[in-house]
Amino acid sequence: MAFTGAGISVESGIPPFRGPGGIWSIYDPEKFEKGYFKRHPEEVWPLLKKIFYDSFGRAKPNAAHLALAELEQADKLAGIVTQNIDSLHQAAGSQVVHEYHGSTRRMQCMQCRTYFDADAISLDTLPPRCPSCGGLLKPDFVFFGEGVASDVHYAATDLAKQSDVCLVIGTGGQVVPAGRIPYIVKNRGGVIIEINLSDTGYTYTTSDYFLEGKAGAMVSKLVRCVLG
Ligand code: NAD
Ligand code: ZN
Repeated sequence: MAFTGAGISVESGIPPFRGPGGIWSIYDPEKFEKGYFKRHPEEVWPLLKKIFYDSFGRAKPNAAHLALAELEQADKLAGIVTQNIDSLHQAAGSQVVHEYHGSTRRMQCMQCRTYFDADAISLDTLPPRCPSCGGLLKPDFVFFGEGVASDVHYAATDLAKQSDVCLVIGTGGQVVPAGRIPYIVKNRGGVIIEINLSDTGYTYTTSDYFLEGKAGAMVSKLVRCVLG
């Protein structure tokens, strides 16, 4: 399996959350807390549009996303658990993708709970309203102060329990419970191969191998070693 974070999408032009150039160095994370959003949708929606719809919409999968799709196609990768909400794994052709923190591609009405495909919702007038009941729409990704959906949590955990190797790519693992997924593999005797620009909380405690470098080059090289 692979467990991926914001770092795998940096070469697609999407900034990570933390560190220099990270989203939280520009925007206040408190604005993405669920209660704040519900109280101030007129203020938060333009930010959501700018960060998650205008830029993510243009991003394309990079060599790392494509190499993981190739690995799955060759039956060497059972699935991906991603913390990303950009849908770039699916765009690369990966079939089994558990989006642990949801996705920008779906929206949910805060009133009648109906889900909508984001492509069907116009962002010309903000905040967008539910086509059925006029309620406030929220992107279907996990905001601060919100829990992870239990179905995706169980699917991710099951995948980890069945995996003998976990590729940990472009994540610091600081966000929990997502960050615990690699430990499930490790605790059952599996091998952790970590790929990151710099060392993380996993590197000296959990990773069996640490491949230091950019995800695009490193994941491609690794996949070439496996598939020839
Ligand atoms: P993070 O922002 O905390 O850390 C990014 C990690 O990627 C760091 O360890 C960094 O060293 C590494 N990195 C940066 N560029 C890299 C590259 N080119 N190749 C390899 N590694 C690279 O990200 P996180 O651990 O995923 O946790 C943050 C949360 O942010 C997640 O919950 C995720 O949902 C969310 N997020 C998602 C996106 C996205 O969908 N693309 C973008 C930003 C944040
Ligand atoms: Zn509604």
